[in-house]
Amino acid sequence: MPSNGAKQPLLPVDDALERILKGLAPSQVDESPLAAAVGRTLSRDIQSDLSLPPAPVSSMDGYAVRAEDCTGEKPQLTRVGESAAGHPWQGRLGAGEAVRIFTGAFIPANSDAVVLQEDVDASSESEGARITIHEPPHSGQFIRPAGLDVSAGDTILRKNSLLSARAISLAASAGLATLPVWRQPHIGILSTGDELVLPGETPAPGQIVSSNAIYLAAFVQASGGIPIDLGIARDRAGAMLDHVRKAPVPLDMIVTSGGASVGTHDHIVSDLQEAGSALNFWKIAMRPGKPLIHGMIDGVPLLGLPGNPVSTAVCATVFLGPAIARLSGHDYVPHQISAEITCELQPNDRRQDYLRAVLEYDVDGLPLVTPARKQDSSMVSIFANANALIIRPPFDPSIAAGDRVTVMPLAPLL
Ligand code: AMP
Ligand code: MG
Repeated sequence: MPSNGAKQPLLPVDDALERILKGLAPSQVDESPLAAAVGRTLSRDIQSDLSLPPAPVSSMDGYAVRAEDCTGEKPQLTRVGESAAGHPWQGRLGAGEAVRIFTGAFIPANSDAVVLQEDVDASSESEGARITIHEPPHSGQFIRPAGLDVSAGDTILRKNSLLSARAISLAASAGLATLPVWRQPHIGILSTGDELVLPGETPAPGQIVSSNAIYLAAFVQASGGIPIDLGIARDRAGAMLDHVRKAPVPLDMIVTSGGASVGTHDHIVSDLQEAGSALNFWKIAMRPGKPLIHGMIDGVPLLGLPGNPVSTAVCATVFLGPAIARLSGHDYVPHQISAEITCELQPNDRRQDYLRAVLEYDVDGLPLVTPARKQDSSMVSIFANANALIIRPPFDPSIAAGDRVTVMPLAPLL
């Protein structure tokens, strides 16, 4: 097993991320029904099949008129029909005529304005009624022209964009029933450790319940990937390789937790070397997460996360999220804000720190952040009640209460 003593320089977080992302790209394309497309990534630009609106429509309830008929003292018109949404009036407006119209209804041919219903007196709500106009309209008033929003053939959505509910609603309006999206990456999730039992099992003395796989499966799913359970590899040489090579489907990436350090029961690095594949890096300048591993098994990238649950989760947030985004076809942009810290912090050492913290907003809406007092990476209760990470660069000087710090809010469901 290689040794990488504390004296050797540690790889900076940004360099580690760059090396993990290098070479990751989406491959095949699926055609997704709109209802299943939220969170998928478009594999090409999308053009609209339809113009929106398809024809001039009214933006108000009132009367469709010819503006030229509405001049002079108290102009009067005759109601000749009605145009409602879904029930267009088929005729052509003649001189001195008006058509009762409602929001979203097609404007009758030869009409060029809508008068608000509040701005007329109508003798009745039937055909032949006399309409007196109190506010003469200008040509074009309260009419949405055809194609105001989108013209048929316009590019409405861009290649490699992540599909939101808003984007899917636009695609539906534009006449599309399916969208071409990049295939979702399959991410193998492997736990390691002789001490682990499955959630729901009662741990015997010496055992603990495995929590990392369930976290990682939720993380992968929320990030747009498909989690593939590879089970638990026990602490013996070769176990990790056995599990990975029995994966039920081809994998785009393997994520392991635990077994990442130098102990005699840690086998991830030695198994990687056994597989004859390159160990890209091991150990980075990060807390939690120093023993992060990156390598390849049979051409599939492997991300080896440290076993402590908080280390697993923070490393997933910093490295796995961007990797799944890249494999899914889009680039992940980390959401970071600046917040006022409520307490002091000692100077940081050479590792980039990710402090579990609670982010709140004061009465003026300004963000305030408070780090948890205990930052032990085994403490899941503190992590579960945090909603943000304070990011401190290596060698950050001491911080006073009231200083601004960089904060990464945690996704509410992760
Ligand atoms: P390791 O890196 O294997 O030495 O693991 C570091 C710590 O994380 C140990 O206390 C392990 O028991 C714990 N750990 C490893 N895997 C898991 C897991 N899947 N769920 C919860 N804790 C784990
Ligand atoms: Mg272990």
